[in-house]
Amino acid sequence: MLYLVPTPIGNLEDITLRALRILKEADLIACEDTRTSGVLLARYEIDVPTISYHAHNERRRTADLIARMQAGQRIALVSDAGSPGISDPGFYLVRACMQHGIPVEALPGPTAIVPALTVSALPAERFVFEGFLPAKKGRRTRLEALRDESRTMVFYESPHRAAAAMRQFAEIFGPDRPAAIARELTKKFEEVQRGTTGELADLLEEKPRVRGEIVLVVAGAGVTTALWEG
Ligand code: SAM
Repeated sequence: MLYLVPTPIGNLEDITLRALRILKEADLIACEDTRTSGVLLARYEIDVPTISYHAHNERRRTADLIARMQAGQRIALVSDAGSPGISDPGFYLVRACMQHGIPVEALPGPTAIVPALTVSALPAERFVFEGFLPAKKGRRTRLEALRDESRTMVFYESPHRAAAAMRQFAEIFGPDRPAAIARELTKKFEEVQRGTTGELADLLEEKPRVRGEIVLVVAGAGVTTALWEG
């Protein structure tokens, strides 16, 4: 049996009672980084063996994990933060479970997408999650394909590319599109900035360096700042 267990994106209190129980009852916890997850496991006194499972060994490790589950082990998969499988390893293992008839349960829980979207003050009834844009090749093409997207768009981005990303949004979607930057969600220096893509690009470019983790949220085509009036 495989359990996909979401873990906090910053605040260690953000873990469900069920997630803690599943982790405690597991025979093995597959971690993106055993040291990172070790902090959480120590905090909740969970003393279960761990094994690394990350982007560079997932193909190799999957066969081993499948064999263990076929022998009856309960394995919990966690990533460094948030939900496994969301811009993190998970897909490959879930697909292997499907192919081998091994049941999978995905627990609901933390992910950076949802709080970034709901705090953005942008429409959240319909949205599209774009994950990370390609760092270089194909980046512009991907954004151009989104020019007429009418749903709110959510992007993960590394802090050192934040200003360039917002400038590209302003160029491709227009400088008047409402947008938001959600930084360090659930952490001590949590910060949310809202404005047009042009305003936010100026703001980010004025900063010497953007620190921490960020999610960029951009309104869909046709949405104007009139949304924030009234
Ligand atoms: N699996 C994770 C999830 O469910 O959200 C995402 C992992 S991905 C490798 C890491 C990215 O998630 C960061 O670059 C950032 O875009 C976003 N992220 C994670 N934690 C965050 C936080 N506390 N505040 C803002 N963004 C965060």
